[in-house]
Amino acid sequence: MHHDHWDDGTDAPDPRWSPDTLAVAAGRPERVPGAAVGPPVELSSTFVGAGKVPTGQPMYGRVDNATWTACEEALGALEGAPGGTTLFASGMAAIAAVLDLVPDGGLLVVPDAAYNTTLELAEVLHGRGRLRVARVDVADTAAVLATLDGDDRPDLLWLESPTNPLLQVSDLATCLPAAHSAGVLTVVDNTFATPLVQRPLDLGADLVVHSVTKYLAGHSDVVLGAAATRDATLSQRLRTHRRLHGAVPGPFEAWLALRGMRTLALRVARAQASAADLAARLAAHPAVARVRHPSLPDDPGHALASAQMRGFGAVLTVQVHGGPDAADAFVDAVRLWVPATSLGGVESMLERRRRHANEPQTVPEDLVRLSVGIEDVEDLWADLDQALRASS
Ligand SMILES: *Cc1c(COP(=O)(O)O)cnc(C)c1O
Repeated sequence: MHHDHWDDGTDAPDPRWSPDTLAVAAGRPERVPGAAVGPPVELSSTFVGAGKVPTGQPMYGRVDNATWTACEEALGALEGAPGGTTLFASGMAAIAAVLDLVPDGGLLVVPDAAYNTTLELAEVLHGRGRLRVARVDVADTAAVLATLDGDDRPDLLWLESPTNPLLQVSDLATCLPAAHSAGVLTVVDNTFATPLVQRPLDLGADLVVHSVTKYLAGHSDVVLGAAATRDATLSQRLRTHRRLHGAVPGPFEAWLALRGMRTLALRVARAQASAADLAARLAAHPAVARVRHPSLPDDPGHALASAQMRGFGAVLTVQVHGGPDAADAFVDAVRLWVPATSLGGVESMLERRRRHANEPQTVPEDLVRLSVGIEDVEDLWADLDQALRASS
């Protein structure tokens, strides 16, 4: 049995549908009497076939899997990625595959503060002489544009917006086309925004990467990644990388991620509304020294985020009075919020980021990152308020 009827176009989702609709409608089996409404988990490692290697039919489970395809179709529809979407075993596997596009000795420009393991991998590759790394403040548009000038042009510009965890906003609509004109390949890590809030490919990015682990899967029970593009050649290179390096997703993980994406619009809408509400209340709390969230009118990213995003995302950070010890006491004192790393799940979570050895030094020691989930906002607020009072 093969499943290429899933993408034969007969019941293909209309790309003009709203992203909220595409999240529900894309990546479904063809509508024929008796067909399943959603795709099954395809668990076969190999597929029947004799004689010549077939085209358009699955052959081996490291190369093709119908459940991956369904999940890739849905995410590709959300990101506006006709070139193709490639699922990987984790966000880092997708990131490593994209970094592999940089030629030997090539120049990679990365944010000076962003997802710590992306930066760690870039440093490892730099240290080995595989490529060269330059860092830039992605919220400083002039500085980003300056990296595109001169003889030593980057081979890849890596942007993240909003950044993890400082929530810096990069002017994607300016930086991406400028890089394109300079012949520089661009990628945006869109994990924090999700495609419902921001579509970097529409703004000129060559590639988008995701930790599907976070909002897309959304229930803190999956580790998965993806890269999406409009460019079929780039997509083919990523698929070849996946086939050669073998960082393939598990079929069950792909199924769970697709199931999670069905409710993405509801989860993101609730979570980002609550995040803006909590950010405003926290900013007025006597125990709190600083809140970062692009929804706040005095946040450095507010104007840009208002123009470029549909909402402000559901991650915020706080710094409490009293330094790292007070921050740890605050995290220890919550009862509903889960003290844990990661983000984007239905459960609200928080952690002090600098407890990780590889966190960039540009992140303040006392910064606590909060990932707002979908619980009742009054319960979330009451728990934060009691924890702040108990720890200050
Ligand atoms: C978590 C995260 C990653 C890494 O994804 P994994 O699925 O954990 O490998 C990459 N980028 C951002 C912004 C993240 O938050």
